[in-house]
Amino acid sequence: MKIAFIGLGNMGGGMAANLVRAGHQVNAFDLSETALATAAENGCTVFTDAQSVMAGVDAVVSMLPNGGIVDAFYHDNVFRVAPPEAILLDCSTIDVGTAKSVAKYAAIAGHEMVDAPVSGGIAAANAGTLTFMVGGSDSAFARAEPILAAMGKAVIHAGESGAGQAAKICNNMLLGASMVATCEAFKLAEKLGLDLQTFYDISSKASGQNWSMTSYCPVPGVGPASPADNDYQGGFATALMLKDLKLAMEAAALAGAETPMGERATELYQAFADAGQGALDFSAIIETLD
Ligand code: NAD
Repeated sequence: MKIAFIGLGNMGGGMAANLVRAGHQVNAFDLSETALATAAENGCTVFTDAQSVMAGVDAVVSMLPNGGIVDAFYHDNVFRVAPPEAILLDCSTIDVGTAKSVAKYAAIAGHEMVDAPVSGGIAAANAGTLTFMVGGSDSAFARAEPILAAMGKAVIHAGESGAGQAAKICNNMLLGASMVATCEAFKLAEKLGLDLQTFYDISSKASGQNWSMTSYCPVPGVGPASPADNDYQGGFATALMLKDLKLAMEAAALAGAETPMGERATELYQAFADAGQGALDFSAIIETLD
């Protein structure tokens, strides 16, 4: 298949390389020369203009920073020049409203489209082990699934357009709130004189068990290897967690949903980012708790 890949940054770079490994011809476009140079090393054919990259392609995959950029790129370029039979896959994390709107205009331009945000960070993008949450029609999903499978370990149909983004932000709101709660529990355990490894051994087998504790423990030296063991470098940046929490808060306000824990987690991550710690892994929020 001939695939145009738009946005070859931290995530998109590895994803495009996996499409090449799966035998696809990948046309790459990014505003960054560095990203394009790496894409060329990984076997992509690079383009320096946003439209010729889409000539004769069977699919367009995008992995861009936010909804405004996705909306503009699809209206200014994809809907103008991509062959109508090309399936469109936006893997960026964006707001539900923009995802639905772009899919609506895609249909007007004759395209099938899915929103397919990912769970898993840069390591999973490089290893081809992402989880994709997909919004779109049954027919669009059937066409998108094999392309996504070349970049991930799981591809799940969440529902109609926008459902992938909805699943992503609900999941990440839960992750943000559960990470803060896990950090609080360890801090309180420490203040109450418990040995933290002992508390982990108990809680990881009791009803407080959760992913933030047993797969990504915020306490250095406790649980499996995690960013906490590496001074909170790498992993999932606080700035990205904050982005997803804000998308969740925006969606909750529009839907009239009460999300008090999500709101509090958003405030805490906002304060942490404002203190200049946006690049640290999100589990580093434990350092702000007394
Ligand atoms: P990034 O900033 O590293 O990459 C984005 C790329 O898009 C950059 O190379 C940039 O030059 C390019 N770009 C920006 N505007 C463009 C345009 N108009 N045309 C062409 N290229 C353009 O970001 P990332 O970490 O790769 O994240 C991409 C998306 O994936 C985001 O929506 C993010 O929320 C989501 N995501 C990231 C992670 C992660 O751990 N990094 C995990 C899950 C989801």
